[in-house]
Amino acid sequence: MLGSKDVKKMIHKEFENAYNIQIKESNLSPEKIHASEASRCTRLAYYERKNPLPPDSNTTISVLMKDNIRRLFGNITSEYKVDTLSILSSADMIVDKEYVVKFEIVSKLPTTPHPRDLLYLNACLFAFDKVDGILIYTNIDGETVEFSLTRNNRMLQEIIRRAKILSTLLKEERVPIVEPSELCLSCKYYERCYAQERKNSSLGFLGLGKNG
Ligand code: SF4
Repeated sequence: MLGSKDVKKMIHKEFENAYNIQIKESNLSPEKIHASEASRCTRLAYYERKNPLPPDSNTTISVLMKDNIRRLFGNITSEYKVDTLSILSSADMIVDKEYVVKFEIVSKLPTTPHPRDLLYLNACLFAFDKVDGILIYTNIDGETVEFSLTRNNRMLQEIIRRAKILSTLLKEERVPIVEPSELCLSCKYYERCYAQERKNSSLGFLGLGKNG
């Protein structure tokens, strides 16, 4: 608190406004699917377009930081066309007119790259017609770990398949099925996907109740 003002709350509001402007800018028709949508949970991507919940503060800050990195290096976006569908990709950087670079800001550096990030980077390689890409994970201490990727047709087919499914479901206004993964635990749509009723228990269901 600063005087009578809750500055933390005000900063959060400013972040939220900036995030909402950024999201509105990416309002797309169902014929245009961003690689970031097709590479993550389809259901999450659907909710984000059709019935979004406000972002949590971690998501807001991470999205804005990534957006600023892209703006810093020219916000390079391209698309890969398949029939009437366009898969859009935004590269964080293209080095030496040859290598597509993607940054991921993480709390803990991974030992292997996340499949979602590989699918995304691979889509960038096809959209920008490049052969090699570099995925860089960085944490807030500035430590990094890098992985390289050569473009791969099988992975392209997978993201096309996922983009087509999302496009069809958006047009038909049908919610995709849940895709259970560790991401669900920190997902803002958790309660929509997993209806739950929390009950305190004295382990009675195991026959270990008071009178058991
Ligand atoms: S909770 Fe899981 S299945 Fe549901 S939208 Fe989020 S990531 Fe997808």
